[in-house]
Order: sequence, then structure tokens, then C-alpha cells
Amino acid sequence: MKHIALIGLSGSGKSSLGEMLARNLGLPFADLDEEAERETGMSIRRMFDLHGERFFRDVETGVTRRITASPMQTVIAPGGGVVLRPENARALKERCVVIFLDRPVGMIARDITYDDRPLLTGAGHLLDQERERRALYLDAADFVLQNDSGPSDALDELMKMLDDFLPKSGTGCAVIGDPITHTLSPVIHMAVFGAMDVSGWYRAVRVPAGELRAFVEMARGSGMRGFNVTIPHKSCIIPLLDETEEGAKLCGAVNTVVIKDGRLSGFNTDMGGLLSSLVSIGFGYAGRNITILGAGGAARGAAFKAALEGAESVAILGRRPEKAHEIASGIRAVSSCRVYPGEMSHREMSHAAGESDILINATPLGMSGAGSDFESLEFLRSLPRGALVCDLVYRPAETNLLRASRDLGYETQNGLGMLIHQALLADELFLERRLDMPALYKIVEGKIAK
Ligand code: NAP
Repeated sequence: MKHIALIGLSGSGKSSLGEMLARNLGLPFADLDEEAERETGMSIRRMFDLHGERFFRDVETGVTRRITASPMQTVIAPGGGVVLRPENARALKERCVVIFLDRPVGMIARDITYDDRPLLTGAGHLLDQERERRALYLDAADFVLQNDSGPSDALDELMKMLDDFLPKSGTGCAVIGDPITHTLSPVIHMAVFGAMDVSGWYRAVRVPAGELRAFVEMARGSGMRGFNVTIPHKSCIIPLLDETEEGAKLCGAVNTVVIKDGRLSGFNTDMGGLLSSLVSIGFGYAGRNITILGAGGAARGAAFKAALEGAESVAILGRRPEKAHEIASGIRAVSSCRVYPGEMSHREMSHAAGESDILINATPLGMSGAGSDFESLEFLRSLPRGALVCDLVYRPAETNLLRASRDLGYETQNGLGMLIHQALLADELFLERRLDMPALYKIVEGKIAK
């Protein structure tokens, strides 16, 4: 397969879009400026200051040659001046699908910082570079992407341009949702396919709410093995499927769809994935008292699974207690587990924590970019010794909730465990075979860390 190279001026979006594209295709990403810095142990500014532009261009040429010659298909973001040397442009043209990101200079000037870009000292220089390089970019490119709207639109456009160059044969799977720019699923599943020697592909596809039915019908006849489902489709996909397993029906959410002989079957591997991640560190639900903070989709799945797996009790605390009550009545209809719905107030959290062996945060509180966190973590002090605090959030890897829990001596687990385990369970369904979970978990974890 050819590599995919995004070229264009500094600040045209090569690195940010390139990283998203690589994540969406489950491919490695190489920023050639970063490669040059790694290779020389110097920042680009320092290379220019100490040795001049020619030295940097020599390093850049070596890095371009090395990365484009690598056998592993890679998304590549070269520096803005890579096309100045004809041999670099030739290497890109021969070994990559090249896309010129054409972003208006005014937009670039508004967005970029100039500190780490030695050839740029202001918008005037950007215009000079545009004049000098535009024809070279156009000459090297297979496609031109007008990058003047948001990253989601640009990513959609890139995926369309690349369609003919992406693999179609072998086991084909996808994850659908909207937004989908930050998903880790392709990285996880491609790592599993690689480790299992499965020839195939897994990619992220943005499916807006109004296009779900059309996607489902397209998938039915597509030859794909199946797909994963994320926000906002987990519930609304159920009526579009031919059958849905009992567990997924109970929690009203499907995250995995298997396609066989044109029939679509829905499963929920989130619930089992969370349990597997807890079991992997010595905590099952059976006989335990569980407290769940939040009353959304993940909380509902966790609460049903805990009750069905023989938990002693399940407390569900939501900021809107009526949602917790609704989950509790659903659980009471199918299990004899004691369920305590309530409000996510400090008093009720402290009270529930006092009885809990496992406390699970199933809200976005503490998540990077969520803009909100627990106002107080004092309720953690009520937990019995030896309790486990599990945060379904995995960005950041250690939330304030988990840090405080660790400081107080409790066991902790972040949401990466659930994310990886639900993907491995989905792969068992897609590939129709048992997987060596612990071994694959390690491989995937390593890939994500990279
Ligand atoms: P959801 O259906 O939107 O539910 C979110 C829940 O959090 C709702 O009960 C919501 O209350 C509550 N909430 C939101 N903001 C809050 C705040 N500021 N204070 C108190 N409660 C708040 O989302 P979900 O799918 O259940 O996901 C919940 C969390 O789990 C997210 O952080 C998600 O990233 C994470 N997750 C992780 C994995 C994984 O694999 N690790 C998988 C699924 C989900 P209202 O109902 O009142 O809005």
C-alpha cells in the first residue's frame, strides 16, 4: 500500500489532521519535523541557529527517504518546505498518495505560533512562502483539499479522497459515530488484527444521526464483518437490527454489530468489557456492594451487569435522581439484587461509599475537555479499606478522582481497561474465535501508549 502524505504550508493542518486521519485508519503517524528533531537531538530552531537551513534540509531529506521507504503504511506530515528539494517531492510522489492541504494564508496567520517556525516571522513571510511553494505543492499532489472549514469536515473529505487507496479485501470492520475524530478504536482493532495475522482493515466512519439507517443498509450488503457503534447511535440502532442479544436489550444499548449472511445482530460488549477489566485486577461483581455515579448509558450497563452477575447491592446516584430510579426499576424487574437509586449529592455519595467494595464513576466529570470535575472528593474517605475506585474516563490517564483515591490507599482502575476489553470482546464476535485476552491486552496497551 502507498503511504499517505499531507503537504502544505506550516500551519495548514498537516500534523493535526494527519494524526486524526492516522487514528481513524488505525495507521502509524509520522511528523517529519519531529523525526528530524529526534534524529539530531536538536529542535528545528536550534538546527537553523547553529548550522543553518541547508543542514536542516539535509536532515529532512534523509528522514523523508527513510520514512517513505518503510514497508509499514504510514500517514506522513512533512514540514512545509519539503517540496523545495526535487528529490523529496519525487520520493513523496512515488511512494505516497499526496494531498495538498490548501489553507488560506489569512487563516494560518490567525492560528499559528511563530516561535518554533524559524522561517516565519509574520504573515508577510507566509505570503512569500505561499508564492514560492504553491506550484511545487500542486505539482507533487494527487489531490487538493481546501482546508478552510472544521476538522470533522476536512477528515470526511480526506476519507472520501482516499477511498480508492484504502484496502477493501479481507476482514473489514468500522466504528461509527459522530463526532468520531478522536476515537482510539481503529488503533486497538488494527493492533489485534496485526497480532492475530488477520488480513483486513478497521476504520472510523462519521455517521451523523440522520444517516444511520442509510449506513446500516449499506453495511448489510457491503461484505463487512461488522462494526462498532458509539455516541449518538447506541440506542437508536436497535430497531434497525435483525436481532439484539438479551443483555444489550436490557441496557438499551448496542456497541457491536455483527453482519452474517446479510443479517445484522447487535451485542453490548461494554458491559462485559468493564467487568473483564475489573476481574483482571481481582475484582468481580459477585457478592460485592457496588456504587455507580451517573445514570446515563454506561451507568445503566454497569448497573444491569453488576445485578445480573450477583452483586450484593447496587447504588445508582444521578444528578437527576429520576434517571437512577428508572434504571433501578428496570433492574428490579429482572433480578433480586438490592438496588438503591439516589441523588449524586455529597451526602448520598458519602453514605453509599461507606458500604461499597467498588465505586464506579460513569459521568464525564474529570475528563480532559469536559470542563467540570467533582466539587469535593471528601466522600472517598467513607470507602472501606481495600475498596476499588474505577473511573470510566481514560483521558487523562489519572483523573483527580483516581489520584485522590490512590493517595487514600484504595485500588484504582481507569477507563482504558474497559475500552480495550470491550474491543477484544467485539473482536471475538467479528472473528468468531476465542482470543488470548491477557496477551492481546498488553499488545494493544503498548500500541496506545506509543
Ligand atoms: P451519558 O449517557 O451521556 O451519561 C453521562 C452521565 O453523566 C449522565 O447521568 C449525566 O447526567 C451525568 N453527568 C454529565 N455531566 C455531569 C456533571 N457535570 N455532574 C454530574 N453528572 C453529570 O454518557 P455515557 O455513555 O454513560 O458515558 C459516561 C462516561 O463514561 C463518559 O465519561 C464516557 O467517556 C465514559 N465511557 C467510557 C467508556 C470506556 O470504554 N472507558 C465507555 C463508555 C463510556 P444527566 O443524565 O443528568 O445529563
